[in-house]
Amino acid sequence: MKLNKMYQGLGISPAVYEYGEAVLKDLRERFDAIDQAAEYNQAKVLSAFQKNRVDAACFAATTGYGYNDVGREKLELVYADVFHTEAALVRPQITCGTHALTVALSANLLPGDELLSPVGAPYDTLQEVIGIRPSPCSLAEYGVSYRQVELLADGTFDYEGIRAAIHEKTKLITIQRSKGYATRPTFSVAQIGELIAFCKSVKPDVICMVDNCYGEFIDTVEPSDVGADMVVGSLIKNPGGGLAPIGGYICGTKACVDRCAYRLSAPGLGQEVGANLGLMPALFQGFFLAPTVSAGALKGAIFAANIYERLGFRCVPNATEPRHDIIQAVELGSREAMVAFCKGIQAAAPVDSYVTPEPWPMPGYDSDVIMAAGAFVQGSSIELSADGPIREPYAIYFQGGLTWYHAKVGILMSLQKMVEAGLVTL
Ligand SMILES: *Cc1c(COP(=O)(O)O)cnc(C)c1O
Repeated sequence: MKLNKMYQGLGISPAVYEYGEAVLKDLRERFDAIDQAAEYNQAKVLSAFQKNRVDAACFAATTGYGYNDVGREKLELVYADVFHTEAALVRPQITCGTHALTVALSANLLPGDELLSPVGAPYDTLQEVIGIRPSPCSLAEYGVSYRQVELLADGTFDYEGIRAAIHEKTKLITIQRSKGYATRPTFSVAQIGELIAFCKSVKPDVICMVDNCYGEFIDTVEPSDVGADMVVGSLIKNPGGGLAPIGGYICGTKACVDRCAYRLSAPGLGQEVGANLGLMPALFQGFFLAPTVSAGALKGAIFAANIYERLGFRCVPNATEPRHDIIQAVELGSREAMVAFCKGIQAAAPVDSYVTPEPWPMPGYDSDVIMAAGAFVQGSSIELSADGPIREPYAIYFQGGLTWYHAKVGILMSLQKMVEAGLVTL
């Protein structure tokens, strides 16, 4: 067959291709459901563009102070409509997801307030933001205390522990949707809604913020639809659609977002300044494509789990369970397998495909780390990428793919390299 020949040209053997096709046959129904969610989300985004009368004037570059920046203002209205929030702060001056979360936290927490995480430890980079690991300018340095309630052994919320941890100083509750690089499950939007409702029943005026990284457009509802006062994320993940070269977003109540704007720029200036530097076409178009791009990445994650679980590797999430983010962990069991997997992902990239990834010591890790990525936007993890620390259980974290077809090639290529290294037999 012609397609088989094309794949052979890319370096994927007929045996690997056939193996992939056999796995895919069982996934059609699930992929149909993903397509339906993407279709719904596409309509949701489209109607926000139309309602806000997005036009060519929105794509003009502004420089300097950026007063009366129509593009920036409409982009924020579009985000607010998609997330069903009163307000949104979306701009290239937010440098990454960690920055967006830092702005949201430091704008809404004052000295003497307490921050609570009811879902265990937050994402690595937030530990210094909060001051769990001491750092200059952490929230701890500014007199904001922190408390965390671990999840129960089965990965569910410890409601009694959470009730006991909420007290008069508790000002803001941070809920991380995706597991990130932890081993706990990722939460569904419905679970997050239950948790928020519980927290608000204990303390009605507490602010609930959701770290939405990697979760956008995976469901047809977002945490802001189930009571979150702020949802926060990075534009070089799902909502940037692979086109945004930088940026972050905070969508939420006007009271919370106003404070975020004052924190990001300056008290008194808020959302009124911030030139768009010509990035508006990419930010609008990326958001427009984000539902289908996220759906493609999700299919890739499910395909990977079904390929590797069938070959005897433990996958988190497993091959059949429901999905709430685009991250796939595969426990490969050895350094050699991690290297082979990453070689395949790298070899399948549209950029830097000739590079060979190698494990190397990375600051902050107690073991070598391997990474594979050949991305248009540096470090973008909505693009096909894989990484993981070289230590037990030798788990590789796989995510992204700007199209499902590219994610598929990447996974088949990872399998090809595993076969060539004699690590699996089909
Ligand atoms: C990626 C991520 C972040 C941080 O985003 P950066 O853009 O890497 O700073 C925070 N939380 C979660 C759950 C993430 O996945």
